Amino acid sequence: MKTGVIGLGAMGAGMALNFHKANVLHAIWNRTRSKADAIAAETAAAIMGSPAQMAQQCDLIVTCVSRDDDVLEVVQAIAEQVKKDVIVVDTSTVSSQTALQAAEILKNKGAHFLDCPVSGGVEGARKGTLAMMVGGEQAILDKARGTLAAITGNIAYIGPTGCGQACKAVNQLMVAGINQAVTEALAFGKSMGLNMDRVVDIVSTGAAANWFLEHRGKTMLAGTYTPGFKVNLHHKDLTICQKMADTSLPIVAMTLAHYQQLMDDGYADEDISALFRIKYQ
Ligand code: NAP
Repeated sequence: MKTGVIGLGAMGAGMALNFHKANVLHAIWNRTRSKADAIAAETAAAIMGSPAQMAQQCDLIVTCVSRDDDVLEVVQAIAEQVKKDVIVVDTSTVSSQTALQAAEILKNKGAHFLDCPVSGGVEGARKGTLAMMVGGEQAILDKARGTLAAITGNIAYIGPTGCGQACKAVNQLMVAGINQAVTEALAFGKSMGLNMDRVVDIVSTGAAANWFLEHRGKTMLAGTYTPGFKVNLHHKDLTICQKMADTSLPIVAMTLAHYQQLMDDGYADEDISALFRIKYQ
């Protein structure tokens, strides 16, 4: 399928390069032109003048933008000129409600929408090993599955439109708890004067092993918080969790308060491992 990518940030750039390796990348568009120029230099993909232009030229459009309003803005622009039966796969993390709105906009034009949030970080996007949780029509996923294999290690169909994003909300709540546990435990270890590189190495092979410890443990101990996954984006995701919940979510409430503190202190664009700044003082 002729594939286009919209949103070439930390995640979208890796996805575009993997579609290129799989010989399906046809077109790219990014709001800030310089990021599209950088990907075009590596892939020779055509830079589109707008999402609407991409909608005329591609069969599959993968979007990866920041927030709910951004997804709706891009989907509206695609819908202006979209061909019948084009499939739009949104990999951004947004609310189920936004996924339902986006699907409706495209359905009115004879096109299709799948909410396909991903997990696995920038590393997973680069390696093409992302976990993808899909909401929408299974028959549409079946048409796109072969092409999406270029960017994912695992595709799971969760249910109708919005279910992919609901699954991702579960994932993001868990990430908050893991971030709390890892940053607090490493600050505790550091305060005891242990050799923390050795601690990370051995703990990473036992029952407390996890992706975040393995990929962010040593960098946070070194005071490096290069994203990765930005504090303000996880704050957005946890706000979505809080709106969806009909019970209290103590981990979400605590992490939102911590992230707000980091954002107020000017660390909104740092990786979420910057939570270590609060735990170790
Ligand atoms: P990022 O590096 O900040 O990139 C955001 C991208 O969205 C940029 O290309 C930006 O364009 C574009 N964008 C934002 N608003 C837009 C708008 N209104 N119209 C057009 N383009 C717009 O963010 P990221 O880390 O790639 O994250 C992207 C999405 O994936 C988010 O929903 C995030 O929650 C999710 N996610 C992130 C990770 C991670 O580890 N980073 C993992 C899984 C999921 P400009 O270049 O012009 O700013």
